[in-house]
Amino acid sequence: MLPDHVDSTYIDGRWIEPHGTRTLPVHDATTEQVIARIPVCDGGDVAIASAAAARAQPAWWAIGAEARAAVLRRVADELRAHREELIDTIIAEVGSPRRLAETMQVDIAIDTFADAAQDAEVAERTERIRNSVVRFEPVGVVGAITPWNYPLYQSALKVAAAMAAGCTVVHKPSELAPLNAVALARAMQRAAVPAGVYNLVLGDGATTGDALTRDALIDMVSFTGSTRAGRSVAANAAETVKRVSLELGGKGASVVLPGSDLPTAVARTVSSCFSNAGQTCGALSRLIVCAEDVDEVEALVQRSASEWVPGDPRDRDTLIGPVISAGQRERVVSYIDSGVSDGFPMLAGGGGDAAGPLPAAGYFVRPTVFSRVVPSATIAQEEIFGPVLAVIVADDPADAVSIANSSAYGLSVAVWAATLDEAEGIGRQLHAGSVSLNGAPFNPAAPFGGVKQSGYGRERGRYGVEEFLRTKSYHLPRD
Ligand code: NDP
Repeated sequence: MLPDHVDSTYIDGRWIEPHGTRTLPVHDATTEQVIARIPVCDGGDVAIASAAAARAQPAWWAIGAEARAAVLRRVADELRAHREELIDTIIAEVGSPRRLAETMQVDIAIDTFADAAQDAEVAERTERIRNSVVRFEPVGVVGAITPWNYPLYQSALKVAAAMAAGCTVVHKPSELAPLNAVALARAMQRAAVPAGVYNLVLGDGATTGDALTRDALIDMVSFTGSTRAGRSVAANAAETVKRVSLELGGKGASVVLPGSDLPTAVARTVSSCFSNAGQTCGALSRLIVCAEDVDEVEALVQRSASEWVPGDPRDRDTLIGPVISAGQRERVVSYIDSGVSDGFPMLAGGGGDAAGPLPAAGYFVRPTVFSRVVPSATIAQEEIFGPVLAVIVADDPADAVSIANSSAYGLSVAVWAATLDEAEGIGRQLHAGSVSLNGAPFNPAAPFGGVKQSGYGRERGRYGVEEFLRTKSYHLPRD
C-alpha cells in the first residue's frame, strides 16, 4: 500500500515526528492527483539524524565487512518481498512505464543491495608500503542526496555502497518522489539494520538538502542531481571541507559513423533518448551522423520515433508515460518551442495540439525529434531531461568527435562504427565517463560517473564502495 500521509521520518531506528511543520504534496504523474503529503525536515531534524549516524558509525564499522554484508542481504530480501508495492509506488510518483519500473527502477535497486554485500570486502583492503600498512577505512557519516528520475536505484547506489564501506547514512530523497524512500526506510527497519545506520530526512532541497550539506557531523556528501544544485552542494560542503561526490547532468552523444549498422544504431539511440520520458542522465539526446548517411538516418529516426506513443504507464505495453511534474512538462515544452523558433525541421512530435492528442490528464509531452540542428543551438547544448532528440550532421568522423565534445557535459556517449576497433578508437577521443561501443549493453557493475560539468566521483560496483573509503597509513617501527 502506498503511504498517503507521512507524518514522521525514520531517524535512529524510530519513526519520529520532525520539528519542521511545513508539508509538501506528492503527485501522481499520470492523474495529477495529490497522493500523499510529506513533512519537511529542518536543520534541527538533520542535526538529530547526523548525530544518530555519528553515534552508530564506529560500531557499524567494527562489526566487519562480512556482518555488514549479511545485513545488506536482508535489506535486499525485504525490498524483494515488497517488490510489487515498490513498482506501483514508482509508477505513481515518477510516471515510469511498468516494464521500466520493474527492471530499471526496482529490480536493479534490489540487486544493488545484494551486489554491495558482495563488494563489501573491499573495505577490508590493506596494502604494505615499506614500513607502513595502508588501510582503507570508511569516510564516516555520509549525507546522500538523491534525485527523482530513478529514485530507488539512485538511493541504493549511494546507501548500499556507503553501508558496505562501513559508513552510516543520512538520506534526503527528492521531494517529487519520496514515497519509495519511505518504503526503503521501512525495509531497513524490518531488516533490523542497527539504529542510526540509515536515517531518512524528508523534505526539499532548499531547506533539508541545504542543512545536510552544511551539517558539521556529515563527513561526505554524495549528490546526484542537476549541475545547478551540485554547484551549491559543493560550495556549502567546502565550509567544513567535506568530501563531495557529484553525479550531475548529461547531454549524451550517439556518434553514428559510416559503415555502422544504421537501423540498430538509430533504434537504440531513440530508445535511450525517450526511455523514462527522457528523464535519464545518461540519455543519448544528440544523434551525430555524417552527411553521407543523414537522409537514411532521418527516415529511420522517423520510423523509430513513431513507435513511442505516450500512454498510461500502468499499461504493460506502454513505452513512454508522462514526465514527472507540471514544472518538468513546462520546461520540456519550452525547449521544444526553442527548437521550433530556431527553425530546425521536426521529424516527430512537437509541443502544440497539431501533432495529435495527448491523454487528457497527466504530465504528458510528445516525444520530439529535430533534425539538422546546429551544434551550438540551445537544444543541442542544454540538458532538456525530456524526450527530445537533436539530429546533428557532421562533415566526417573527426568533425563528429569535435561536435560530440563541444558540450559542457561529459557523462555517457555511444559510438557506432563498422568495426569494434574503429569504435574504440573514436571512443578514446570522446570526453565522457563511459562509452558504449557498437551497442554494448549497460553494465551495472562498471564504474559510472562524469567528466567536465557532469561531475566527479564514481558509483556502482566495487568502485562505488571505494568511493566511501579513505586511506590511513599506519607506520610500523622498522625491525
Ligand atoms: P535537482 O538538482 O533539482 O535535485 C536533486 C536532489 O538535490 C533533490 O533531492 C533535491 O531536493 C536536492 N537539492 C536541490 N537543490 C539543493 C541544494 N541547494 N542543496 C542540497 N540539495 C538540493 O535535480 P532533479 O531531482 O531535478 O534531478 C534531475 C537532475 O539530476 C538532472 O539534471 C539529471 O541529469 C541529474 N541526474 C544525474 C545523474 C548522474 O548519475 N549523473 C543521475 C540522475 C539524474 P528537492 O528535489 O526535494 O528540492
